[in-house]
Amino acid sequence: MSDVTDISGDVPGKASVALTGNKKIQEKLQRLGIRTEMDLVLHLPLRYEDETHLFPISNAPQGKAVQVEGVIVHNEVLLKPRRQLVCRVEDSSGMLCMRFLNFYGSQIKAYAVGKRVRLFGEIRHGFFGSEMVHPKCRIINRNEPLADAMTPVYPVTGGLTQKTLSSLIGRVLKYPHDKSLLAETVPPEIVQQNRLPGFRESVLTLHHPPPDVSVVTLQNQTHPAWQRIKFDELLAQQLSMRLHYRQRRSRKAPRLNYKAVLHDLFMTRLSFSLTAAQMRVVKEISGDLGSNHPMQRLLQGDVGSGKTIVAALAALQAIDNGYQAAIMAPTEILAEQHYQKLSAWFEPLGIQVAWLSGSQKKKERQTVLTVIESGETMLAVGTHALFQDQVNFHQLGLAIIDEQHRFGVHQRLALRMKGMKGMKGVQVPDKSEQVPHQLMMSATPIPRTLSMSYFADLDVSVIDELPPGRSPVVTKLLSDSRRDEVIDRIQQACRKGKQVYWVCPLIEESETLQLQTAMDTYETLCSTFADLHVGLVHGRLSAQEKTDIMAQFKQGEVQLLVATTVIEVGVDVPNASLMVIENAERMGLSQLHQLRGRVGRGSDASVCILMYQKPLSEIARKRLKIIFEHSDGFEIARQDLHLRGPGEFLGARQSGVPMLRFADLELDGGLLTAAQAAADEMLNHYPDQTQHHIKRWLGDKTEYLRV
Ligand code: ADP
Ligand code: MG
Repeated sequence: MSDVTDISGDVPGKASVALTGNKKIQEKLQRLGIRTEMDLVLHLPLRYEDETHLFPISNAPQGKAVQVEGVIVHNEVLLKPRRQLVCRVEDSSGMLCMRFLNFYGSQIKAYAVGKRVRLFGEIRHGFFGSEMVHPKCRIINRNEPLADAMTPVYPVTGGLTQKTLSSLIGRVLKYPHDKSLLAETVPPEIVQQNRLPGFRESVLTLHHPPPDVSVVTLQNQTHPAWQRIKFDELLAQQLSMRLHYRQRRSRKAPRLNYKAVLHDLFMTRLSFSLTAAQMRVVKEISGDLGSNHPMQRLLQGDVGSGKTIVAALAALQAIDNGYQAAIMAPTEILAEQHYQKLSAWFEPLGIQVAWLSGSQKKKERQTVLTVIESGETMLAVGTHALFQDQVNFHQLGLAIIDEQHRFGVHQRLALRMKGMKGMKGVQVPDKSEQVPHQLMMSATPIPRTLSMSYFADLDVSVIDELPPGRSPVVTKLLSDSRRDEVIDRIQQACRKGKQVYWVCPLIEESETLQLQTAMDTYETLCSTFADLHVGLVHGRLSAQEKTDIMAQFKQGEVQLLVATTVIEVGVDVPNASLMVIENAERMGLSQLHQLRGRVGRGSDASVCILMYQKPLSEIARKRLKIIFEHSDGFEIARQDLHLRGPGEFLGARQSGVPMLRFADLELDGGLLTAAQAAADEMLNHYPDQTQHHIKRWLGDKTEYLRV
């Protein structure tokens, strides 16, 4: 394979030429993100207007924009009920009123009685009879020919008219400064295989549709020209993501071979056996670790599917080969819990586990840093403190990130760059230097098409099965006017020896207010349940305080735990079988799903009560309905994606990944599959075209794609 990693260099349409001599227009273009000739070419119409037909005024269809032609027979400026210009236009079939609420003096003159005009707009029946409000109005001569093609309507910004934009685009298409502007970047075999039209032909069709084009397919973006554009966009995304995947994959990593002895010993001591899904992903990961190129794998599994044990087995394989492993979690509570669980699993095998967190005392931290650096400790568990500059591993072979979606782009970048022995800080490792394998875990299930596209730079493993013996959580929706019933339920549960979470309202605008609400709730519940042990955990407590309260809850000393959403990720207390979430209408779907996942971990039937406050917004109502009706995380994620669109859904990741402007993952799944196959083919055999294609679509945006 020749080197396709260099995507600098001059590429068609990306040279910076002045698009217009007019500074003001230039600025407005920039506001639309248009800087280059190619940006103009790819500024495709939002929709089209049909000005190829004329309708008789009295016979024009209702409810859609139409074109009519007639002569102005009356023209006046009314002052009541508000100032407006009203003209009556007549053709042989009838008459209509056109009204302008905002107008220039010049318009009053221009629309003089006797002038012939062509109007485009929607006809309504109002106070003045048939009327068009603010139609597009052009003065014409008799027998002026009709447009012979659909008229494109472009996305515009304030001050830039359709006319200016469309003439700029027309000029670039006709007389590009760069002669190879519309050159084909996709090899002909691939274009033919997918039965797509050429790039040039496609953009010309979309900007200037020929008269005989199928209007419907143009409007709903299924026309072959649209297909080609969407394919190219998806292809660019695949190419850039796979390219980065290959770049990272081309680095060296230690070979960490599977060894049966320690693995089997570990398994015999475990109190349960793995589910089939767990076994499958353990095998996939184990295979990757045995390669001398770094693993870059995302392990997805719904809440409670048992990812921790999979992580532990991966770590064990590294350790058995003499390399260290690190597990990082996004919150102290979760990291601490991992530390306890992993110590209990590993220490009996003689493997020391270290704990590192940001809130540790200096001296304690120093000791931990020393044993990590000397290699005395083979497994380090912690928050992102684990990947700060002062932490030097003796020989890090595997880095595991739990709940990776909770970390920001920068933290993930730092982690990825955290290299092997002796490497300090965040530097891009030398190509010859070994880098650790990386396993990312996430309980936010990602719908398949989304993961095929936005996670194309990772290998993905999925645990699609829950451990046996779980009983599904029953979800109840209660208006908070029915608080008394909730109180009763808590009494009953605790009387039976069960434990309860009470999740306080999320107040995004103010952390102080959030904290205050949590304390108030705690006090109220303490007096309501005078005979119960009530605990409170929130984000402002010190690490030690959090640890203590969680330990008390785990041991059953605390029966009712009042908590902020800090317990959202990972917390595992099987005896807790009732959860109350206050103001559930304020929370996102994935958050609700994660929270609910804290119960239903033991064998008892569990209940999650979602309390909401009326009135509910439309979107809140939809969210609550989805969470009420579904328990499968993948289904919830699919619906969430549908509700919010990929940009919102992906959150932090989006800043590092090229977003899609044209392709719609829900509708264009077939094109995505085709683009995926084409990307492999191109990366293997067509380095030049690959380079040109990425540049055409992504320009310099590929720089972000390192995370
Ligand atoms: P998550 O995927 O949400 O991180 P955990 O790893 O915390 O899930 O596992 C949830 C619970 O299920 C833990 O108590 C864990 O010990 C238990 N568990 C994991 N795998 C199995 C299994 N195969 N059989 C029974 N229990 C399991
Ligand atoms: Mg977990």
